Amino acid sequence: MQIQDILAKHRMTFSFEFFPPQSLAAVGRLFATIRRLEQLKPSFVSVTYGAGGSTRLLTHDLVMRIHTSTELDPVPHLTCVCHTESEILQILQRYASVGISNIVALGGDLPRDHSAHDRTTDAFCHAADLVRFIQKFNVSGAHPHAQGFGIGVAGFPEGHPATPNRLVEIDYLKAKVDAGADYICTQLFFDNRDFYDFRDRCEVAGIRVPIIAGIMPITSKGNLMRIAELAAGSRFPAGLLKSVARAGDNPEAIKRVGIQWGTEQCRDLLDHQVRGIHFYTLNQSDATVQIYRHLGVSDSLALGSRDIM
Ligand SMILES: Cc1cc2nc3c(=O)[nH]c(=O)nc-3n(C[C@H](O)[C@H](O)[C@H](O)COP(=O)(O)OP(=O)(O)OC[C@H]3O[C@@H](n4cnc5c(N)ncnc54)[C@H](O)[C@@H]3O)c2cc1C
Repeated sequence: MQIQDILAKHRMTFSFEFFPPQSLAAVGRLFATIRRLEQLKPSFVSVTYGAGGSTRLLTHDLVMRIHTSTELDPVPHLTCVCHTESEILQILQRYASVGISNIVALGGDLPRDHSAHDRTTDAFCHAADLVRFIQKFNVSGAHPHAQGFGIGVAGFPEGHPATPNRLVEIDYLKAKVDAGADYICTQLFFDNRDFYDFRDRCEVAGIRVPIIAGIMPITSKGNLMRIAELAAGSRFPAGLLKSVARAGDNPEAIKRVGIQWGTEQCRDLLDHQVRGIHFYTLNQSDATVQIYRHLGVSDSLALGSRDIM
């Protein structure tokens, strides 16, 4: 089902992100994770996409395996970097032929081992160009579903490091929506005020598509360091850092702090009528399962319901 239809049907969506594992053993572990998270009845799950050739096939394989062997609706990510137009077309045709309904269209980051790559050789410079191309594919009738692919794009509540001018950045985001994106999923953030302000700025800019909030609970000190590195520019509120510091070198305590922080973020987002929460799972189930448990619900249907006794 296209995500805009899910969003039209339900007040909120709850989704999980996975990355394609590199080894057979890691695939086995990921499927154990997926089986546990399937019980939370997510609206959809998404699978990230890398710039290297072999990683790209792994995305396709993981999407296909989720599609054929689980009840979940997989949403593949697709990036502009290191791609020709005909490669992108082939990928779209392959996903369309098996009935994949949604794609997340991204600019993509160059991995360290591709740093010499000349981006002017890429068919698409920015995610907006990729969105336009997918829309062209949709209207050509090449997708078996009349509406074609639903399209998600990335948003950055704390700003994207490559565009320090925040006014211009929102214009670029609006260009992605005007090109045909159906929803925005945000980069992770730890202070909900950044998300609410971003949501308001989108409103001012005339961006009307649903905005899904990206949440990544901290699970260890190493994980915190990696977030600081990979999600460059992420702001770590002092309150969170103090809680992590209080936990000292106790890994279990740090994980509890991360889950508690993530739970409070989700509770607050639910109270502020967020349209969706996307959990960056890092291919693990524990933190997400615990957050649902602490919110007092057994699955996403209960999480999205507003019925009061
Ligand atoms: C939800 C989510 C999922 C992600 N999944 C992946 C993934 O699977 N694989 C991966 O490699 N990366 C992924 N990323 C990271 C993302 O690809 C990078 O952060 C990338 O640098 C930005 O992607 P974008 O789609 O916003 O790109 P774009 O929209 O192309 O923006 C990239 C930069 O260019 C600027 N820009 C946009 N349009 C123009 C223009 N016309 N002229 C000049 N500048 C412009 C933007 O302001 C921004 O600074 C994800 C990020 C998020 C938030």
